[in-house]
Amino acid sequence: MIQALPVSQHFTATRNACKLCTPLGACLAFSGVEGAIPFLHGSQGCSTYIRRYMISHFREPMDIASSNFGEHTAIFGGGKNIRLGLANVIEGYSPTMIGIATTCLSETIGDDVKMFLHEFRKDHEGEALPHLVHVATPSYTGTHASGYHDAVRAIVDVLAQPGPTIKGVVNLIPGMFSPADLRWLKQVVRDFGLEPILLPDYSDRLDGGTWSEYKKLPPGGTTIEQAARMGQAEATIEFGFTTQESSSAGTRLKDKFGVPCHRLGVPMGVALTDALFDKLQEISGRTTPECYLGRRGRLIDSFIDAHKYVTGKRVVVFGEEDLVVGMTAMMAEVGLIPVLCSSGGKSGKLTDAIRSVAPEIAAQCEIHEAVDFEEIADQARQLEPDLLVGNSKGFKLARELHRPLIRVGFPIHDRIGGARILHLGYAGAQARFDSIANSLLEMRQHDSDVDFTYF
Ligand code: SF4
Repeated sequence: MIQALPVSQHFTATRNACKLCTPLGACLAFSGVEGAIPFLHGSQGCSTYIRRYMISHFREPMDIASSNFGEHTAIFGGGKNIRLGLANVIEGYSPTMIGIATTCLSETIGDDVKMFLHEFRKDHEGEALPHLVHVATPSYTGTHASGYHDAVRAIVDVLAQPGPTIKGVVNLIPGMFSPADLRWLKQVVRDFGLEPILLPDYSDRLDGGTWSEYKKLPPGGTTIEQAARMGQAEATIEFGFTTQESSSAGTRLKDKFGVPCHRLGVPMGVALTDALFDKLQEISGRTTPECYLGRRGRLIDSFIDAHKYVTGKRVVVFGEEDLVVGMTAMMAEVGLIPVLCSSGGKSGKLTDAIRSVAPEIAAQCEIHEAVDFEEIADQARQLEPDLLVGNSKGFKLARELHRPLIRVGFPIHDRIGGARILHLGYAGAQARFDSIANSLLEMRQHDSDVDFTYF
């Protein structure tokens, strides 16, 4: 008889991955610059896969150029293709910036993209070229989140310029936030009388209105001028505890231009949002506007009202590492118990980050990095959670366990509104908390054999 083995022993490859392709994150970051277009150095299949994911989440058109690798290119290198591809994109789109990310194939054959770009610039000497920003994104070494952060740093490397400090300008380096989150962040900083420079800012480009006529490149995004001024800002606020600090955009701005970098957790829940407001009070010298204090009070009141329905409920959380940390912090504040915190990311920092925001949870919870959904499912079956919190990829497991899935993060492609999910701030925590409490109530009603009219 064949014995069932632990997942790690009977799978020789990642199956049902809990991370997405690294260039996908880079494409998302490049999409946040005004007039920019992402360009993949690799095969068309990679850009098609990424387009499909982005479009099904954001429900917006998404152009990603490709250097169109074929058998010949895979053997002899893609120098000719990238030069021709860039020339075509410049002619067809007139972009302000082309964000070039490499795919697994071009990285594996060892294409020297830096040299190709040098040759391209030489070939076009005297012509006005867009900014060419290159980032190496082999998927076998990273995740969509690491590709995103590396691309943001690459943009800063090319675009940020030195100069005298401009008082009141604050750089914001978000994580893979939703367009609704990005809008919230800019508004909060403005409400403190500061001028935010958000990089990337795809809040309009990937969640815009309707157009009367087709636009090749959607409007919105961090302008080239704003990105240049990031080197002259008064301060940078960089979000996330699990990004590699040594190679982050905020660290680069500090090392190159002396812009002080404040690293904060993703502002989810009361304490992490308080930390952002404290920092903005410190930078601006102003007190937190009254409207946010009111919002905070209403959130805590709702926690009190509904804690009896959620306290002690066991939750499996998964997704990008910083999202997992933020959601864990928020849920721990109201007595929900994350029993498994898991991510496809592998920063090596997830446990410490959870310990720093929710020490009582870290002590009793299983925390796993670099896992796939097979491993999460294996653990979840034993832990018997009441609820799952994560992206749409967890649906199969939620259905198997007959438990609700609260959709957060990326990708949300089996529901409408992924771009409009607000995770941040007191209002974001309120919306997520209401969804959690209501889904638990709904499950209880659904499973009850008592025919009641009042719950
Ligand atoms: S081959 Fe690599 S770069 Fe292309 S889609 Fe797959 S993971 Fe992404």
